[in-house]
Amino acid sequence: MKTKIFNTGFYLLFFLFCSILFFSCKKDNSAAPESPTGMLITPNNFLSSEKYSKLQIEIQFVYGYKPTPTAIENIKSFLQQRINKPGGIEVIYTTIEPSDKTIYTLDDIKAIEKANRTIKNNGSTLSAYILFLDGNYSQNSEQLKTLGLAYGSSSMVIFEKTIRDLSGGLGQPSITSVEATVTEHELCHILGLVNNGTALTSQHQDGGHGKHCINSSCLMYYATETSDILNNLLGNNIPLLDQNCINDLKANGGK
Ligand SMILES: [Zn+2]
Ligand SMILES: [Zn+2]
Repeated sequence: MKTKIFNTGFYLLFFLFCSILFFSCKKDNSAAPESPTGMLITPNNFLSSEKYSKLQIEIQFVYGYKPTPTAIENIKSFLQQRINKPGGIEVIYTTIEPSDKTIYTLDDIKAIEKANRTIKNNGSTLSAYILFLDGNYSQNSEQLKTLGLAYGSSSMVIFEKTIRDLSGGLGQPSITSVEATVTEHELCHILGLVNNGTALTSQHQDGGHGKHCINSSCLMYYATETSDILNNLLGNNIPLLDQNCINDLKANGGK
């Protein structure tokens, strides 16, 4: 009896997780050209070294909600494989105090960035901002919980509390693999995928699902067979970009 309950819960949870992961950025990811800081950055600025030879990533987290070091290392090496930054990719951690909020609207998130982002573009150094929050997104529903959102040309938020609530337990994917998967997916929207500021080099955009890839095993797929992703993440394998997505990045100054 106990086992049965566990199994049902498990599949339900996993179904939610899949919905979350792959539908989350459908509505809001159309990387707005401006960020709250007023910086106008294009995907090409991230991909090529023409204008910016170095990248500084500010990881700003609410006390107690720091992402795992392994996830950040994974994210860093993922970027190193795809973007041309001969001056290097540097990660800088900053913290903010918890607020009284447990639910955040997009306006709340933009206001937090505006008040607290410390790393700005400087000369040939480009900056990106990733906020790890201690609460949930206001647009969440019972069936659909957002784990991450790219809301500006160099800004994204990861709902670290939501991730922790849905991962790391028995039969669930590890926190590290979910953090890395969600963050890399959102970063790729900022790199302009799919058709989100980086032009298509072949037709692989999933027309029905916004800025996503039609390949079910690609990091940029909107949804997939639940069992596939379950296996991927349970094995702690973070989905990779497929060749079509990589080709787009290459054609826009990436590698
Ligand atoms: Zn997406
Ligand atoms: Zn793809």
